[in-house]
Amino acid sequence: MEKDPPVFNKPKVELHVHLDGAIKPETILYFAKKRGIHLNVDTVKDLEESIRCKEPYSLTEFLTKFSIYMPAIAGDREAIRRIAYEFVEMKAKEGIIYVEARYSPHFLANCGVHPIPWGQKKGDVTPDEVVSLVNRGLKDGEKDFHIKARSILCCMRHMPSWSPEVVELCKKYQNDSVVGIDLAGDESICAETCSEHRKAYEEAERCGIHRTVHAGEVGAPQVIKEAINILKAERIGHGYHVFEDESLYQQLLKDAMHFELCPWSSYLTGACKMEFSNHPCIRFKKDRANYSLNTDDPLIFCSSIHTDYKIARDSMGFTEEEFKRININAAKSCFLPEKEKKELLYKLYEAYDMVKSTEF
Ligand SMILES: [Zn+2]
Repeated sequence: MEKDPPVFNKPKVELHVHLDGAIKPETILYFAKKRGIHLNVDTVKDLEESIRCKEPYSLTEFLTKFSIYMPAIAGDREAIRRIAYEFVEMKAKEGIIYVEARYSPHFLANCGVHPIPWGQKKGDVTPDEVVSLVNRGLKDGEKDFHIKARSILCCMRHMPSWSPEVVELCKKYQNDSVVGIDLAGDESICAETCSEHRKAYEEAERCGIHRTVHAGEVGAPQVIKEAINILKAERIGHGYHVFEDESLYQQLLKDAMHFELCPWSSYLTGACKMEFSNHPCIRFKKDRANYSLNTDDPLIFCSSIHTDYKIARDSMGFTEEEFKRININAAKSCFLPEKEKKELLYKLYEAYDMVKSTEF
């Protein structure tokens, strides 16, 4: 799939991609070796085999994939900085000119986090330092690869005790790479019942931190309602199951709610069990909804942004015009400050030959 020429070889915007699901296999092996961590695999090929999702898995099975390689990266300053830097390089090569990378700072820490993730020994890398390291990696990448990269910090549904710190980190690093907050993980855990998530989102709203929520990926429309009404989400991660509640969908369509769609991911995680020719993306397209196409976790899905665009073109009838429209929508719905958003939009209009002569 990757050998074909890119389907939409023009500047693009990506809003939903996990930093810890977009690491180069070579980098994982390098740090595992350097740190003496045994991953039970020695070659890139074996590592890819053990990590990569090639057939539909349950979302829970998919989440176990992270535990294979995260021990090689978490808790190591150089590794954390490097994955952020290489992430920008990877996205620049894919023709992405603006990307929002999301991650849980706690999952990359080995100190000041309870429990310490991935069976690590206690060290001295705190979630706060993780954010600062990622920021440095992203900034170095921006300088070298000439694209813009920002980040979104993730709360995890099963770890409500981390959420107060997540929002504090969003505040501390607001306008310094961090532009938003997310809630990721198992949707069967209701955010409404976890007051820490709710409070974190209230604080985010109060401080002008942008908000997105993984909702309706595998969960019911109720999870989307909760994301919007209680967590005041401005974008919805995935949201495929919105179609089980037509009136909710009509309301969100009217409100121009942005849906961060990830077609290839939705197939491999089993979030969408239907054929691509009958995928929710098609309804969003038909209704000219506000949505974007994204990779989610390219390492695990053995993919790049071109995979998702190719599926959209070949199996869902997407045209060049629709690709332009959704990237413009992604830019309009991104979490950059207004002025930078305008600049990004202008770049897209220019690249798509859509600059009106009257604007000069
Ligand atoms: Zn995601």
